[in-house]
Amino acid sequence: MPPAADLSSLEAEVVRRNPAETEFHQAVREVLESLAPVVHKHPEYADAKLIETICEPERQIIFRVPWVDDSGEVQVNRGFRVEFNSALGPYKGGIRFHPSVNLGIVKFLGFEQIFKNSLTGLPIGGGKGGADFDPKGRSNGEVMRFCQSFMTELYRHLGEYTDVPAGDVGVGSRELGFMFGQYKRITNRYESGVITGKGLVWGGAQVRTEATGYGTAYFVNEMLAATGTALEGLDVVVSGSGNVAIYAMEKIRQLGGNVVACSDSSGYVVDHKGIDVDLLKQIKEVERGRISDYLRERPEATFVSDGSVWDVPCEVALPCATQNELDESAAKKLVANGVKAVAEGANMPCTREAVRTFRENGVAFGPGKAANAGGVATSALEMQQNASRDSWTFEHTEERLRQIMRDIHETCHETAEEYGRPGDYVLGANIAGFTRVAEAMAAFGVV
Ligand code: GLU
Repeated sequence: MPPAADLSSLEAEVVRRNPAETEFHQAVREVLESLAPVVHKHPEYADAKLIETICEPERQIIFRVPWVDDSGEVQVNRGFRVEFNSALGPYKGGIRFHPSVNLGIVKFLGFEQIFKNSLTGLPIGGGKGGADFDPKGRSNGEVMRFCQSFMTELYRHLGEYTDVPAGDVGVGSRELGFMFGQYKRITNRYESGVITGKGLVWGGAQVRTEATGYGTAYFVNEMLAATGTALEGLDVVVSGSGNVAIYAMEKIRQLGGNVVACSDSSGYVVDHKGIDVDLLKQIKEVERGRISDYLRERPEATFVSDGSVWDVPCEVALPCATQNELDESAAKKLVANGVKAVAEGANMPCTREAVRTFRENGVAFGPGKAANAGGVATSALEMQQNASRDSWTFEHTEERLRQIMRDIHETCHETAEEYGRPGDYVLGANIAGFTRVAEAMAAFGVV
C-alpha cells in the first residue's frame, strides 16, 4: 500500500479513537501530512508502527482540583497532565490555566511539544498539562490555593528524570512559585530540576522569561535573511500582549523592526511610532490591566475594539496569542497587504486554511514547533544549570538561545530542501522533529 494512503487511514483511526478532540486531530493531521516521504525512505518506521505509537500518549492523567475561594465557597476544577513521549528525555512542557482547557487541547499541545522539543536538539521528551481554571480576576490567595491543590495531586507524577513542567498561558513565575513551594513541602526535597521557569533566586535561569518571544524574533529574522530580506525598517504586527508577545516585540525592536500593533482579547492598539514595550510591560505584567490603558500614556495611538489585528498592514506577522486565532480571511488580508513572513509565537495560532494561503502565495511561514521553540530550549538550559548547580550570565544564555534558534532554522531549511520542498518550514520542522524521535523509539524496541 502506498504510504500516503496508510497515513490517511491512520489519521482516520486517530480521529475515531479520540472523538471530539478537534485541536488534537488538527495537530496530528498537520504532522502526518508531512510524513509520507519519510515513511517512503524508511519503511522500517512503518513496519515498527512508530507513527501509530507516537500518536498515543504514554500516559494521560486527569484529576480533580478542589479549592476554596475567598468567599468560602468550594470550587472544583479539572487538572490534566499528558505525558506524551519520553524517547528523547523526561516529559517536558508547560502547564496552561485557561477556561478553554480540556483533554483535546492538552493533547494537541503535548503532541506538538514532542516535535518542538526534538528540534531543539536537547534531551527533552514531550508533555503538557493544565487546568480549566481562570486566573483572571482571582486574588493572589485564590491563585495560591488553586496551585497548591493542583500540585497536591500532580507531584507524584513529576521528577527531574520523569516529568518537568513549566509555564504556559495563565501560568508564569507567580504560579510556578506556588507549585514549586508545594512540591518541595510535600516531597521534602529541593529538587530544582523538577520545574523550569523558576524565579532567579530559587534556581531559575536568566533569559527564560524572555526566551519564547526572543526566539520567535530570531527565527523570523533568519527566515527573512534566507530570502535575502533584512528585518531592519519592516513593519511588524504581533497578536497578543502576554509573555511571548511582549518579548517578541522587545527583540524585534532591538533587531531594527518596527512593531506597529499588538492586541489582547479586548481589542488591539496601533502605534505607528512603534509600540512602547516598557509601557506594555507595566500595563500587562505589573498592573494586569487591559490593552486600552496604553492610550493613557500614548494618546496618539489608536485602540480598536471590533475587528482583527491582522487588518493592520505589515510585512511581518507574529501570531503570539492562542490556537486558531488567524484564519483564512485574516491570512488573505495579510497577503493582500504584502506580508512577507509569518512566524508562530503561540502554539498552532494559524488555521490549516491560513497556512495553505501563506504557502500558495509564497509567504515564508515558520510553524510554532520551530519558531517558538526558544522557550522550551531555554528550559532545557535551565535544567542543565540546575543539574550542575551552576548559573550562567544573561549574555551567555542569550547567545546559546540565539545559536539554538539558528540551528533549528537551518535544520528545517535543509530538511525541506533535502525532501524537494525548498522553503517549506512546515515540512522541514515536522520531518526533522519526527526523525530524531523515531530513531530513539526504534532503538528501544516495542516499549
Ligand atoms: N509552554 C512552553 C511551550 O509551549 C514552554 C514549555 C517549557 O518550557 O517546558 O513550549
